[in-house]
Amino acid sequence: MKRVYLDNNATTRMSERAVNAMLPYLKDIWGNASSVFYETGQNAERALAQMRKSVSEYLGASDANEIYFTASGCEADNWAIKGIASAYRKKGNHIITTKIEHHAVLEACAFLEKNGFEVTYLDVDSDGLVTPEQVEAAIKNSTILISIMTANNEIGTIMPIKEIADVAKKHKVIFHTDAVQAIGHMNVNVQELGVDLLSISAHKFHGPKGVGALYIRNGVRIENLIHGGGQERGKRAATENLAGIAGMTEALRQATDELDTNIEHMKTMRDRLMNGLLGKIDHIKLNGPKGDRRLCNNVNISYEFVEGESILMRLNMKGIEASSGSACASGSLDPSHVLLAIGVPHEIAHGSIRFSVSPETTSDEIDYVLEVMPNIISSLRNMSPMYEAFEEGRIVSVTEQLKSSTI
Ligand SMILES: *Cc1c(COP(=O)(O)O)cnc(C)c1O
Repeated sequence: MKRVYLDNNATTRMSERAVNAMLPYLKDIWGNASSVFYETGQNAERALAQMRKSVSEYLGASDANEIYFTASGCEADNWAIKGIASAYRKKGNHIITTKIEHHAVLEACAFLEKNGFEVTYLDVDSDGLVTPEQVEAAIKNSTILISIMTANNEIGTIMPIKEIADVAKKHKVIFHTDAVQAIGHMNVNVQELGVDLLSISAHKFHGPKGVGALYIRNGVRIENLIHGGGQERGKRAATENLAGIAGMTEALRQATDELDTNIEHMKTMRDRLMNGLLGKIDHIKLNGPKGDRRLCNNVNISYEFVEGESILMRLNMKGIEASSGSACASGSLDPSHVLLAIGVPHEIAHGSIRFSVSPETTSDEIDYVLEVMPNIISSLRNMSPMYEAFEEGRIVSVTEQLKSSTI
């Protein structure tokens, strides 16, 4: 059966260009970039320098030396938060973030809380947004770092990063943003945004897994996360993953080259899916904003009276791949922290599905999902005691209540 992959916020298929860009580094240019006294190493070193320059240009950095390669988005986030906390500890111990960050940011902050730091987790509104005013109000004399994501991976909210960066600058606080979901989905330019640190991860934009980067503006001090050799200007030990970096660089080049056409296509696919589902199925709620504040490829909807995992299993049987809003991967039965933070009631947060499209997604694929989903939902509801209770008038519909309360 043909698979319809609609989980591109979780990972993406590598592009042909990215695969081909890696091959020379798996076969011919296999030297250690730190072995600069002979040709094999020099070839690797030259290639690495060129790729660093390319990445810095695509991200709008002013200097190639502001790009540090890492082994993932999680590593970039952990390094930004722990590295800044440690370097600026004498100045203060307060960090500001939001309740809807990726676990890499939230858990790094929780770790710091156990080690004498104080963290403010800002509330978000029902669309997942924080305001620059909220950030400003949370700043104290002891604030050393603000970390707020560019775009949310679950509900697609795009944060007002430039405005928050202005607030951070005004108060001389360092500002990090997790831009992992932004690359390939919107224009990302570190100087236009005015951020001090920015994380990216290759596998979220059709590059290879296990490689990312952290942009660190010149002049920002940071302690190492990984100690050892002198790679990455002494800031991040480990022999560089040249093939991975080559794949990421090419994927970033492609994402940049094709950005406008890709965004337009993804928006069309997203809206076809979103409007189709909202039109065809009752008792559901769209999570995250509508319009320009929403990531061009994300659709997240809660379906009342059903469990997300049951929907996923039925979808899988039909060849459709998506993701549920609950954190079952972490072995927890709690609904997603993001959905709870935007005020989605527990009982419907459990029935949430995220579809995320890519530049490869076709209208036929979307139409297939629109044909399959209503049947899956009604078949699961027919087995649901809650739905029976609702039909018999013994309980009220939470999604209907939400609708009437927001009108
Ligand atoms: C996927 C993701 C990460 C983690 O990136 P990895 O390379 O998988 O470690 C961090 N932040 C966000 C917003 C993500 O979507």
